[in-house]
Amino acid sequence: MSGRADSRDPKLRFISLGAGVQSTAMALMAARGKIGPMPDCAIFADTGWEPRGVYGHLEWLRSELPYPVLVVSAGNIRSDTISRSNTTGQRFAAIPWYTVSPTGKRGMGRRQCTNEYKLRPIQRRVVELMGGRVRGGAEAWIGISADEVARMKPSRVRYILNRFPLIDLWLSRRDCLAWLGDHGYPEPPRSACIGCPFRSDAEWRALSLSEFADAVEVDHAIRRQPGAQHEQYAHSSRKPLSLVDLSTAEERGQFNLFLEECEGMCGV
Ligand code: SF4
Repeated sequence: MSGRADSRDPKLRFISLGAGVQSTAMALMAARGKIGPMPDCAIFADTGWEPRGVYGHLEWLRSELPYPVLVVSAGNIRSDTISRSNTTGQRFAAIPWYTVSPTGKRGMGRRQCTNEYKLRPIQRRVVELMGGRVRGGAEAWIGISADEVARMKPSRVRYILNRFPLIDLWLSRRDCLAWLGDHGYPEPPRSACIGCPFRSDAEWRALSLSEFADAVEVDHAIRRQPGAQHEQYAHSSRKPLSLVDLSTAEERGQFNLFLEECEGMCGV
């Protein structure tokens, strides 16, 4: 793939929309001209396993924006996860579950889900939108805020140049929430897969009962992969999710688990 992105005059300018607080604020700031130039579109990568509130929020946001919101998908991460855990199926979602070996050694699985279910489908759509010719490149607006600079990452592909408008304005997540409130907009939900292991205890608690039951079911299903020695868990305590006391001091040190190993895509 040839063509290097050029920030002066990109062929396509798009918002990488996670539908969380930061990317929502960024999208609405663009709509109001606070950030410019006006993007050509926003692109939301749907893993198929977001909480119901995120999909509702996305629909509302679509009605507020003057530019189109495109939805792309690489499949359903939940069903791919379950099929991997039930069989030795070829397709699987590499979610970085917390692991414990038979000797008690703690670890974490490889993280491929962000790339597979978010970055790549967006990259594919960007190439399509540029008519298959990436010369001139595209500019992607990523909703990383000033309190999360560690999440800033360059694009993995030459034809997309990442830009961080919230960092340019030095706006924190809290500033984004204040801006949304000042303009009469509702507080967006945390955008992340229902069973994402980067959830803090507060975020596990924020799930509805049915969503939490769904996460418990998947947590149970992933415990032991075919042929693997270690056990896998969705919660950082490495206990079955149904047994974790989510109201205790386990929350300490969990300010933002997405910072642990982030690609600048999930959760914003
Ligand atoms: S939200 Fe979590 S599980 Fe979903 S793609 Fe991102 S890191 Fe993976």
